[in-house]
Amino acid sequence: MAAANGVAKLYIGRDGILSTPAASHLIRKFSTDGGIILSASHNPGGPEADFGIKFNSANGGPANTELSDKFYATACKISEYKIADIGDINLDTLREEKIGDTVIEVIDSVSEYCSLMQKLFDFDRIHNLFDSGVFHIRFDAMNAVTGPYAKAIFEKTLGATHGSVIRAQPLEDFGGGHPDPNPMYASELYAHMFAPDASDFGAASDGDGDRNMIMGQQFMVSPGDSLAIIAANASRIPGYRDGVTGVARSMPTSRAVDRVAAYMGIECFETPTGWKYFSNLLDQRLITFCGEESFGTGSDHLREKDGIWAVLFWLNILAERQQSVRDIVQQHWHGFGRHFYCRHDYEGISLQQGENVIARLTEQLPQLSGKRIDGHEIIVGDDFSYLDPVDNSLSCNQGLRIILDNEIRIIYRLSGTSTENATLRVYLERFEPEPEKQMQDTQVALADVAKISRTLAKVNELTGLNEPTLIV
Ligand code: MG
Repeated sequence: MAAANGVAKLYIGRDGILSTPAASHLIRKFSTDGGIILSASHNPGGPEADFGIKFNSANGGPANTELSDKFYATACKISEYKIADIGDINLDTLREEKIGDTVIEVIDSVSEYCSLMQKLFDFDRIHNLFDSGVFHIRFDAMNAVTGPYAKAIFEKTLGATHGSVIRAQPLEDFGGGHPDPNPMYASELYAHMFAPDASDFGAASDGDGDRNMIMGQQFMVSPGDSLAIIAANASRIPGYRDGVTGVARSMPTSRAVDRVAAYMGIECFETPTGWKYFSNLLDQRLITFCGEESFGTGSDHLREKDGIWAVLFWLNILAERQQSVRDIVQQHWHGFGRHFYCRHDYEGISLQQGENVIARLTEQLPQLSGKRIDGHEIIVGDDFSYLDPVDNSLSCNQGLRIILDNEIRIIYRLSGTSTENATLRVYLERFEPEPEKQMQDTQVALADVAKISRTLAKVNELTGLNEPTLIV
């Protein structure tokens, strides 16, 4: 189709494989007009399953709302399309070939991305850590796109033991698994990291390589804490020694990074859910790091979240500090306080039920201030909207925010909506400044907040669910 439509040049990853962050990097590196990524992140592709076509703009980032709307409007009017009659193209050997007016270059999927990582991180130092012989990692590529990247970077380049990368072979059906890096779907890695013979460091990425989960021995790092710790340790990492201009997080993400920003005297932007909202801030150099609670972390090195990058950032911190993951996180909490955080999903409810919860709570927002519930006072409740400081675009209805005393925060959003079904997502957060109380179990620490969240929104009454179906 590209050849039939007069595209001058196409870069394609060998075997058709490119991670989303690697594609973002190549768009920027080769100054292309954009990039097309065929991926549905962690869902299998094909007519019987899910199939995503993603377009990234010339800055390397996801298409913004305006461009997406134009694509949609145009797609609705398509009555014919052009396609060149040239047969299948062999993608397993590196080469350049001209087909009609279009030059096709099959490139190594990993090497350009690996070079970028070498510029950002101290590979020698990380190599020394592996050479010590007492530091072991396990990276679960979940039979998805990061396998070749992880093998090349962690094992071949940095010297991690052969076999450190598990499920390294990308498979069309992900080997029957569901490459979503969280304790539920990366359960094999999760179990290994809590076993007596756990590795020192564990990580996983998702189907298209943009998300990450970070673990230590018998320890899980929450995405919000990971972002905060990355920002707080930036001066130790070669690619970020010039300083951090600012940080951003999606609104429902824990406010742990806000405290780091306040300490560093830099701005912290709060954006709606969706990586595209970070693009303008990154392009204008208003921020260096950004992240989302849904296991996405990234920086100004490209315009997507980046799973392998986050793992390398942690490895570089570990190599510099010579401490365990757990010690680094606990020291961070001692210094900045801990934000207990979790997400409760009520899945498979009807769209009507979900909309009822949001509509009823929205109606009550103006009267919530000063009300008491289960011994806590509600400070304020609002419907989050975001005015982009770069292009002045306004995004409304991005989630209901309820702030209570003791820095408790509850957020309600509808997600995964289709014509019939929806998921109600409730994000719970509570701040704990006292070190002796920071080691509680998250669900125990947030039990009161969870109860308030159900009472306040009449979740049980309006959805028929007494408990969340998924806790992340
Ligand atoms: Mg993804």
